[in-house]
Amino acid sequence: MKVAIMGAGLSGLTCAIVLERNGLKPTIYEKMGQVGDRFINAEAFMSILNRPIHDVIRYITEEFHIDLKPVSHIAKLNIHTENSHAKIEEHIGFINIRGRHQFSFEMQLLEQLKSDIHFNSSPPYDEISKEFSHVVLATGDSADALQLHNYRKNLSVSLKGATVRGEFDRYTATVWLNHNYAPKGYGYILPFSEHEANLVTAHPNLSTVTEEDQQKYWDALYQTVQTQTNQSLPVTDQFQITNFVIGSCIHPRIGNTFFTGNNFGAIMPFIGFGQFVSILTGIYAAYDILGYGSYEELTKPLRKSYERSLVLRQVMESLSNNQYDHIVSMLNGKLGKRIFKPSNQDPLKYLSYFLRFFVRRS
Ligand SMILES: Cc1cc2nc3c(=O)[nH]c(=O)nc-3n(C[C@H](O)[C@H](O)[C@H](O)COP(=O)(O)OP(=O)(O)OC[C@H]3O[C@@H](n4cnc5c(N)ncnc54)[C@H](O)[C@@H]3O)c2cc1C
Repeated sequence: MKVAIMGAGLSGLTCAIVLERNGLKPTIYEKMGQVGDRFINAEAFMSILNRPIHDVIRYITEEFHIDLKPVSHIAKLNIHTENSHAKIEEHIGFINIRGRHQFSFEMQLLEQLKSDIHFNSSPPYDEISKEFSHVVLATGDSADALQLHNYRKNLSVSLKGATVRGEFDRYTATVWLNHNYAPKGYGYILPFSEHEANLVTAHPNLSTVTEEDQQKYWDALYQTVQTQTNQSLPVTDQFQITNFVIGSCIHPRIGNTFFTGNNFGAIMPFIGFGQFVSILTGIYAAYDILGYGSYEELTKPLRKSYERSLVLRQVMESLSNNQYDHIVSMLNGKLGKRIFKPSNQDPLKYLSYFLRFFVRRS
């Protein structure tokens, strides 16, 4: 068997690690000059999105023997709306680093890999598919799946973010649900050390929102955060992503080509998290190639989660600032704690089940 992996990111590297641990050396192609060759940013895992798994880091280590170290766990989540606020103190999830940083997840996976990577190399799919018995498309966007007519687009989003310096509690994540900062989206500040954090606004692309507006939203949030935290936060780095497509592949596998990570449809439309599914799809593609299971079967629950998440996104887009105020005020105190505390129950699953009737009707 000759396996080609296109892309040395989360899904490509986890796939390669599992293959080589089981005696199969893949050929890995990476477009950039090194692993994680992009801006540094903080990303998060939220336990509530992965129920019944309580602790994704522990799950990935114990179930698959892949070691990933986050920079911290999240012990407190602040949610701000225009006129309300909720503070949830629970084990919410984890914060980790991505990109060109020595502790990024990409760098941690690279340390566990023995195979060589062909850098600055992105041979065309047509060539690769002829030369190799199996191809894993792990390129981190939907371009390949779209080109192969194997992708259903649901929305596109834009993100504007910066690294800011200041004093942060690295166990606290803060989110803003407020159309004045991110119409139909959200803003957040995620610290990745005591002195650095990412301040980001993320929202779906709307015909009414221009790139200039995006800057205005980010500036407005930036001002608010400086006022609320009573500190000036100098910007040390910036990034902007426009028209990032969120959707899912139609077939997780076509012939011997596997669609993993964002090519699979890892990014959950509700709040745009995709790391956990990317890692899982990389591992599951390797399992299928090794004859340990069927990729289609293994990824079925992930596809269901995607559909549920899409319902929640549609609902989120229909909410006004007033409605955000009401919902978030209810999360303060016991209810929020109950929803977020580790449990086998999946409140988002039930919520999306009931809400899908509402979404279909509206
Ligand atoms: C700003 C931002 C914030 C995010 N925040 C979160 C978060 O908080 N929580 C969360 O769970 N998810 C988050 N996500 C989503 C998450 O990062 C992705 O779902 C995940 O990284 C996708 O993994 P992947 O394996 O598909 O691709 P990646 O990890 O992106 O890797 C793709 C690799 O393929 C390479 N490549 C691209 N094209 C080619 C080619 N033609 N040939 C060879 N190599 C190629 C790229 O250079 C890259 O190294 C965020 C995404 C962004 C952009």
